[in-house]
Amino acid sequence: MVTRLYSHPIFLEHLTPPGHPERPDRLRAVARILDDEPFSALERMEAPEGDEATLLYAHPERHVEAIRKAIPEEGIVGLDADTWVSPKSYEAAIRAVGAANAAVDDVFSGRIDNVFVASRPPGHHAEKATAMGFCLFNTAAIAARYAQKRHGAERVAIVDWDVHHGNGTQDIFWDDPSVLYCSTHQMPLYPGTGARSETGAGNIVNAPLSPTSGSDLFREAFRSRVLPALRDFAPDLVIISAGFDAHHRDPLAQINLTEADFDWATGQMMDCAARSAGNRLVSLLEGGYDLEGLSFSVAAHVGRLLRG
Ligand SMILES: [Zn+2]
Repeated sequence: MVTRLYSHPIFLEHLTPPGHPERPDRLRAVARILDDEPFSALERMEAPEGDEATLLYAHPERHVEAIRKAIPEEGIVGLDADTWVSPKSYEAAIRAVGAANAAVDDVFSGRIDNVFVASRPPGHHAEKATAMGFCLFNTAAIAARYAQKRHGAERVAIVDWDVHHGNGTQDIFWDDPSVLYCSTHQMPLYPGTGARSETGAGNIVNAPLSPTSGSDLFREAFRSRVLPALRDFAPDLVIISAGFDAHHRDPLAQINLTEADFDWATGQMMDCAARSAGNRLVSLLEGGYDLEGLSFSVAAHVGRLLRG
């Protein structure tokens, strides 16, 4: 497998208040572990600047404008109790989108099999016109539409194993059967959406897990709900909203996964991409707030992407 890794120093400059779980140290921990020898085969790239026009693939102009206007000249400003912006946040968020779109270009070029984008802020809570849950723009949703508009992808699957439901991604594709959105997440938990009964145009598959669920129930949710939906849908691109906050060490939730579960789930996504998508798989970092749980999980995930 040829695996590419995108990151950029600007992602460390999106600042949140002291004690906030979504902090620059997360990416430092990810960078540190991916610097180790087992990852020497990764093709490391600087995330390119994003094209602002692509934000409109998932958001109305007024949302983009509202985020731009909220950026302070100095200090940190809260958009809500969870979601904060600092002077470089817009630049960071745009570059996260740029990296995700470049990753789509890469896998459609045929030279790269799969890509991991280590960026922040995350994206899956950002709805069409609402920033929330640490997220400003919905990077995964923009990348899915980018694949459709620029590369003629007909069916894009977004699989979201972040422990929180990706309400934003669900909102954006609610009535769009060209995108399949599958999510495993803890319920009840923030943001409160993600019941099994939320099915959109038949293209939304929610597999909620009760608190304290572990490996068995997570894998069972994949086997009984996510994988059959993917098989039927036969995507020509697989995007992973890769949050690692379902790890047992994570402070924001009570699901008890280990690195081995992320390795396994990654393998399942690669099998799916091999079946219908010529291996094309793009993985975008979402949550994961315990630095050790996050870095070990990313190592398992990226290790699997490299190894095949
Ligand atoms: Zn999360």
